[in-house]
Amino acid sequence: MDYDENNIFARILRGELPCEKLYEDAFALAFPDINPQAPCHVLVIPKGKYISMADFGAQASPEEITGFFRAVSLVAKRLGVEESGYRLLANAGPDSMQQVPHFHVHIIGGKRLGHLLAPP
Ligand code: 5GP
Repeated sequence: MDYDENNIFARILRGELPCEKLYEDAFALAFPDINPQAPCHVLVIPKGKYISMADFGAQASPEEITGFFRAVSLVAKRLGVEESGYRLLANAGPDSMQQVPHFHVHIIGGKRLGHLLAPP
């Protein structure tokens, strides 16, 4: 599967669609999820064109991988959920119902989340 240049997050990265930038560096951009599932629900996306975790893990450079995950942990800290705790979630592929085919991590927190998966 080829990377879809017109997926929503690609368009956000190009500045064609708005987002509230919470954090940005050379490797990552973070912004609130448009449909939050918890008091804190933020998306962190890599700047590079990767479809999924599998694509990112296989194709991204060590600098991109390190930079991205450092950004994720920094964003969680800045959001104030490091002490209270949070969940990282990355959907990949059809069974996960991944909606946007640009690799992203959800940072979810700000309340007691319950145990792992909600019923479909
Ligand atoms: P996925 O199911 O692919 O893991 O998650 C995609 C997430 O992107 C969903 O939680 C959805 O609410 C969010 N989303 C979809 N479109 C937009 C948008 O235009 N702006 C923002 N901020 N979030 C979006």
